[in-house]
Amino acid sequence: MLVSMKSILDNALEGKYAVAAPNVDNEHNVRAAIEAAEEMNSPIILGVPYHANPDIEYFGRIITDLARRASVPVAINLDHGASYEHCVHAIRAQFTSIMVDRSQEPFEINVAETKELVKVAHAVGVTVEAELGHVGVGENYDVDGYTGLTDPDEAVRFVEETGVDCLAVAIGTAHGVYKGEPNIRFELLEELTEKLQIPLVLHGGSGSGDENLAKCAKLGICKVNLSNDLRKASIEELTSQDLSGNAVYGMYRFLGEGFKNKVKHYITVLGSEGKA
Ligand SMILES: [Zn+2]
Repeated sequence: MLVSMKSILDNALEGKYAVAAPNVDNEHNVRAAIEAAEEMNSPIILGVPYHANPDIEYFGRIITDLARRASVPVAINLDHGASYEHCVHAIRAQFTSIMVDRSQEPFEINVAETKELVKVAHAVGVTVEAELGHVGVGENYDVDGYTGLTDPDEAVRFVEETGVDCLAVAIGTAHGVYKGEPNIRFELLEELTEKLQIPLVLHGGSGSGDENLAKCAKLGICKVNLSNDLRKASIEELTSQDLSGNAVYGMYRFLGEGFKNKVKHYITVLGSEGKA
């Protein structure tokens, strides 16, 4: 069933688990993600970057149709909404959540632009995620992983002023493949959870380590964004097959299997199995 992201996250906060948010961009990985959730009886959040698919409205029709047919709760979130237009377009494409990412702007601009979209989204029951502090890219982890961490007092002001439903926090994870080892600040996460009392979101789940992610889920992270590991698992499954002769016809099935099995792995790690 297609549901609001807020309903999934509020349940996760109360139950002290996190929900996997795989990045999807085509019918095959949408189906793989939903099948993984159904087989584990878990809620799932599909993360869609604006440019993931060439046509967000067409993709919105596919993804919402598949979500409505699912036996478990499915939310659809615009990942890293970079402009007012992209966010409004995602709402028109029937997404049930938008992320307004102004994390690289100064605090006051981040507040003002997020607040404006909260008003639009909430008018039609759409959830809003924003980001404070900045989660960088793993390739620059020696710099990005150590700067831009979320300031707890600033975060309290941000949530009060914007009225967001959930907040992506920078606690030492990074997008994509890490250069070196991830250094996650659990004490910072605990402080943020205690002060904010809303569901928190972790970006850059791939390569962050299963134990670290499981611990984050217990400490207030309610959604973990995943992309790189899922794509890698798809490709590994495909390339592990004997693709000679007519076996090539199985291409999308192999890619989907790899994706699905990795989503199931993360559902187990994050503790959302059986929580649908
Ligand atoms: Zn992200």
